[in-house]
Amino acid sequence: MEKVLEFARTLITNKKSDKLIAIDATCGRGNDTMFLAEQFDTVYAFDIQDDAIESTTNRMHGFNNVRIVKDSNVNICTYLKEADVVMYNLGYLPNGDKSITTNSVETIKSLTSVLGILKKDGLVTIVCYPGHSEGMKEAIELEKYLQELNQKEFDVIKYDFINQINNPPFLFAIQRR
Ligand code: SAM
Repeated sequence: MEKVLEFARTLITNKKSDKLIAIDATCGRGNDTMFLAEQFDTVYAFDIQDDAIESTTNRMHGFNNVRIVKDSNVNICTYLKEADVVMYNLGYLPNGDKSITTNSVETIKSLTSVLGILKKDGLVTIVCYPGHSEGMKEAIELEKYLQELNQKEFDVIKYDFINQINNPPFLFAIQRR
């Protein structure tokens, strides 16, 4: 069985429609940016921390299809007007400052604007980390928000290892119909 991030990547790799514009909404160390840059014409990568921007910039050296932006993902729609894929990998920067983490208010605000620019058949993946308290709050609020999305407009799934202890990470994926 694929782990949650692997499953998110499989959904994106298997996407049959356009692979023009992708967004890494939380670029961190640049792993997902790299994954996206290998398949999409253009990738936008956002993060609010210098540490993350520096890591991703170093990682993506030599790629000319990636634009790295130091700004909150809340402001994504000021930089671009359509997207085929958006990846969120929530929580804090691996080997970084654990006091800086994504939160429900900003993530839902960002997601609301991103869904507005998502193309038909476009996909959003969100890896949640309910193993820490802010992550748990964020995951609960996100699930409530996603349950309310109009089923005529969006398909929403949850991929979750329900027999594991200690609140393991899980995935939401949203596709515009
Ligand atoms: N995708 C990353 C990778 O491949 O290494 C891991 C992402 S890490 C789990 C979460 C990142 O979200 C952190 O680097 C953090 O700085 C960033 N973040 C937190 N709030 C944010 C916001 N409002 N907008 C953009 N990035 C944010």
